[in-house]
Amino acid sequence: MSGPGGDVVIVGGGIVGCACAYELAKRGAKAVLLEYGTTGMQATNAAAGMLAPLTETHEPGPMLEAGVRALRAYPRLIDELRAACGFDLELRLDGILKVAFDDEQAATLRRRYAWQRELGFPLEWLDGATCRELEPRLSADVVAGVFSPGEGSVSNQMVALALARAAAAHGAVIHQHAGVRSFVRRDGRVTGVRAADTTHACDAVVLAAGARSGQLAARMGTDLPVRPVRGQMIALGGMRTPVRHIVWGPDGYLVPRANGIVFAGATVEEVGFRRRTTAAGVRGLRAMASALVPQLRAATVHFAWAGLRPGSADGLPMIGPLPGYTNAFAATGHFRNGILLGPLTGVLVADGLLSGDWGAVPAAFAPARFAAMPALA
Ligand SMILES: Cc1cc2nc3c(=O)[nH]c(=O)nc-3n(C[C@H](O)[C@H](O)[C@H](O)COP(=O)(O)OP(=O)(O)OC[C@H]3O[C@@H](n4cnc5c(N)ncnc54)[C@H](O)[C@@H]3O)c2cc1C
Repeated sequence: MSGPGGDVVIVGGGIVGCACAYELAKRGAKAVLLEYGTTGMQATNAAAGMLAPLTETHEPGPMLEAGVRALRAYPRLIDELRAACGFDLELRLDGILKVAFDDEQAATLRRRYAWQRELGFPLEWLDGATCRELEPRLSADVVAGVFSPGEGSVSNQMVALALARAAAAHGAVIHQHAGVRSFVRRDGRVTGVRAADTTHACDAVVLAAGARSGQLAARMGTDLPVRPVRGQMIALGGMRTPVRHIVWGPDGYLVPRANGIVFAGATVEEVGFRRRTTAAGVRGLRAMASALVPQLRAATVHFAWAGLRPGSADGLPMIGPLPGYTNAFAATGHFRNGILLGPLTGVLVADGLLSGDWGAVPAAFAPARFAAMPALA
């Protein structure tokens, strides 16, 4: 190991922190994870669990490339975690249908379809009637759609749980209710991380605190412009699941989950750290769901929740060395794609930390790109 020989302290136990702990421990490194509350219970728990690099991306580039790489790596990870933990992680890669209700929306879909087909992705263009053959309860107002057969979803909650358990089985030490307050710093190094009454000595530190990463970086005197972006979601049930695939409309999506419930999401709101649902948010999601599948008007809202996505100024994650430090690293800013990109981030961080070579991380994800930028309001 040419990287740190001692403890790597990971701050934050969402999917990203748990994946870092798992990949580091699997390679024999001493990983200590400090979690403010309970692992996996913030944005990671709130997510819809989609693995949708094509459906989520608006242009070619590093995000699409990383997303596709992450999607391709998922089945092996799931096999590994199932073998380690013995429970099902509900990986379903049976496709996503994205639909349009009018010609303008169809033209937008068509443009994305064209460049993604050009890159060789096996998308299918469908007229309205064919969309309804695929999803018979879809609104009669749908005029066209794109079916992306290789994308899908996973149980984000189970993946986070499995990563934490598998990390611990490989020797990672996970401290719950260990909120990090400050850092011991000397000569461009972090030598200790203070959580509760304990100072954890470290050879390296990884900031993976989701939407709170910017605040923690500020305590290290460095700029990491991560901001919270609230997403509200509802779980609809009380009827036989009316969709077989994930269905996206222009205003939101429906994700059928293994237990017969349909997740409908999600709002995208800049409201600081207020992590609660609103009547308007829930109403909007109900309307969006009913517009896609009218039968859902009769569904029961079993529960509603909200989470804070870790957003970044340019929509790209921040993975790699933190400017001003020789042993501090970021793994955050995954915004709408942290469930997809979290496990790959764990691999990139473990490889980078243990080899000292961060060349496998796309340059566009380097935290240093913000070094010259003013902090976000
Ligand atoms: C409604 C919604 C739907 C989404 N749907 C999808 C989807 O379908 N597919 C997808 O890929 N992504 C989706 N996302 C995005 C995804 O959830 C996030 O990108 C991802 O969970 C971020 O993971 P994380 O580990 O960085 O953050 P988190 O899961 O928020 O974890 C960060 C952890 O750090 C801890 N922490 C904070 N401060 C401290 C501290 N001082 N000390 C110690 N620990 C600390 C927190 O308690 C938390 O557990 C969705 C998000 C939302 C909100």
